[in-house]
Amino acid sequence: MKIKMARLAWPMTALMVGLLTGRAAEEGEIPPPKDEPRIIDPGPPPSDAIVLFDGKDLLKWKSEKDEGPAKWEVEEGIVRVNGSGNIMTRERFGDCQLHLEWATPAEVKGSGQGRGNSGVFLSGRYEIQVLDSYNNKTYYHGQAGAVYKQYAPLVNVCRKPGEWQSYDIIYHVPRFDSAGKVVKPGRVTVLQNGVLIQDNIEIKGLTGPAGAPKYQSHPLKQPLALQDHGNPVRYRNIWIRELASAEE
Ligand code: MG
Repeated sequence: MKIKMARLAWPMTALMVGLLTGRAAEEGEIPPPKDEPRIIDPGPPPSDAIVLFDGKDLLKWKSEKDEGPAKWEVEEGIVRVNGSGNIMTRERFGDCQLHLEWATPAEVKGSGQGRGNSGVFLSGRYEIQVLDSYNNKTYYHGQAGAVYKQYAPLVNVCRKPGEWQSYDIIYHVPRFDSAGKVVKPGRVTVLQNGVLIQDNIEIKGLTGPAGAPKYQSHPLKQPLALQDHGNPVRYRNIWIRELASAEE
């Protein structure tokens, strides 16, 4: 039965390729998909992106502590961490492409983890570290671009304190079964200032607690959060594109 199906499969595919391309198909050729890729204006931001911060207000965000309005300072197109606690998006997202720009304070204060520390929490819990890692030593899997305490960045491509830097992140949310066991770990790719620093790595679990990272199950769609670590880090141009695979 299997052989018969296989014998039938190629003539059918060849017929489809012939119809779609107007010529005879070669064996094994992949037919073009029926649907045209959507047309997107690249921007930035891309026309299908949800702009989370456009420099004007924090209406798309709330305070993580009390879920009231986000209280970070907004001025002249930027938002600054001010000690009022982490902020998180009102909307929830699954697999996504995320862009954001950040700058640590131009006036250098503190050292190690105390210097320009903030962070991007994917699914509200997996931290991509934001830190002033320009001539500032700390444990390598805690420097800027690290998946906190799991993976150091592939290279240190940090600009000087006060200068704007970008993260472009492609994130696939971990999947859990109904018993809460992880069946597909999360994966993340990060470019900092256009340079690859995390190459499709497998997230090992929560990035916060001490000890071996562990997963705790959560729904596919979760808010994105930004960390208030007590340092006046600035952000601007934050946008996100949810990926089709989020519906899986
Ligand atoms: Mg941090």
